[in-house]
Amino acid sequence: MIVCKFGGSSVANAEQIRKMINIINTNEERRIVIVSAPGKRFDQDVKVTDLLIQLYDKVLLSENYDIELTKVLNRFESIAQELELKTPLIHLFESQLKGYIQKYNNHPLRLLDALKSSGEDFNAQLIAAFNSQLGVKTTYLSPKELQLIVSDEPGNAIIHPDSYDKINQVIQEIDGKIIIPGFFGVNENSDIVTFSRGGSDITGAILSRSVHADIYENFTDVSGIFAANPKIVDNPASIHNLTYAEMRELSYAGFNVFHDEALMPLYKEGIPVNIKNTNEPEHPGTMITKTRQSVGVVGVSCDAGFVSINMTKYLMNREVGFTRKLLTILEEHNISYEHMPSGIDDISIIIRKNQFNDNLYELVTEIQDRLHVDDISVEEDIAILMIVGLGMKTLIGTANKATEAFRNNHINIKMINQGSSEISMMFGIYVADEKKAVKAIYDAYFTA
Ligand code: ASP
Repeated sequence: MIVCKFGGSSVANAEQIRKMINIINTNEERRIVIVSAPGKRFDQDVKVTDLLIQLYDKVLLSENYDIELTKVLNRFESIAQELELKTPLIHLFESQLKGYIQKYNNHPLRLLDALKSSGEDFNAQLIAAFNSQLGVKTTYLSPKELQLIVSDEPGNAIIHPDSYDKINQVIQEIDGKIIIPGFFGVNENSDIVTFSRGGSDITGAILSRSVHADIYENFTDVSGIFAANPKIVDNPASIHNLTYAEMRELSYAGFNVFHDEALMPLYKEGIPVNIKNTNEPEHPGTMITKTRQSVGVVGVSCDAGFVSINMTKYLMNREVGFTRKLLTILEEHNISYEHMPSGIDDISIIIRKNQFNDNLYELVTEIQDRLHVDDISVEEDIAILMIVGLGMKTLIGTANKATEAFRNNHINIKMINQGSSEISMMFGIYVADEKKAVKAIYDAYFTA
């Protein structure tokens, strides 16, 4: 059995929906279909999920929300009209949204999750109705009916491990195509709880694991994953095959074709993921598998938005417990760090900026006071560039190629790190050098 997931751009309007319907109906194995909310139809367009968040903002401020509500309903109305859908759904959608607004009057987090989930929920109902109208046996299943039970962390839910078997039992009872909204589950009390943004990929992975799918096809608007960001490098090579671990490293530093949390449910069963293009379904796309034949470097990614807190203290290397005390301070502030390169008397700690709520300098003062460092400084404009590839383990001179490319392009390396698995090399650079660095590294490994 194949589980397919269609991202926002693949279900953004009637034309795209017809393409996805054709993809699922021409292959009997494609039985379970996860859909996102309608995404952008053109560059300046707004995703339905973002329209729903705008609606939430108005409700929260107790302001008139008619315009925002109408914008959401109009998106679905125009899709339904273009599909010549006979089932009248728009009034149902309207009362569902108004119902949430009333019900969760005093529960902003519940309201936000319920509204955010509606883009996927309405789209799944609409697509299921359309496919039934075409004469194909199709069932819409909500996460509640599926028993897709998640933790009660609004906007950041995690699947409950008992859910997989329960979902499988529900699915086994149903014939024909099953359309499921992505992006959310329900808690033990049946309240809607969403995954983090882009989380429909996670729903697809959960379903794949539940039904022990042969393959998880993830349809998007590109024919697979590129070796570098196509907005920076012209016509980058596309990757035919990469492992879960390589994908994780690449998405860590900015590749966002596939949600990194979505790999987790697939890992244990080793279910392959095929990233495919709704607009070019015959293209083989990119396969993500547990293992593969190792070759050199597969990709380079780079992400800005890091800060480095640098500390020096004379005889730091002899002070037992220094790092523990540093990490304790971070833990007390609920901050997770990314990297910690160190010297004999100095240590830097690299943290994503989004970990701070305006408390960066408060933290710095606290470190200074509690650890009595000689010097402490902050660099706020750090980007992390990752060079990823299984094969690097056995190759000699991979780092040399990178440092040479940096030197030739006058890029200052702030730090270097290589994990023990040798699957990636990480370079800290200044944000201003980001584009130049990605181009230089891509050229060094892929065009030389
Ligand atoms: N619609 C949600 C978002 O925009 C989830 C998804 O598309 O995967 O984040």
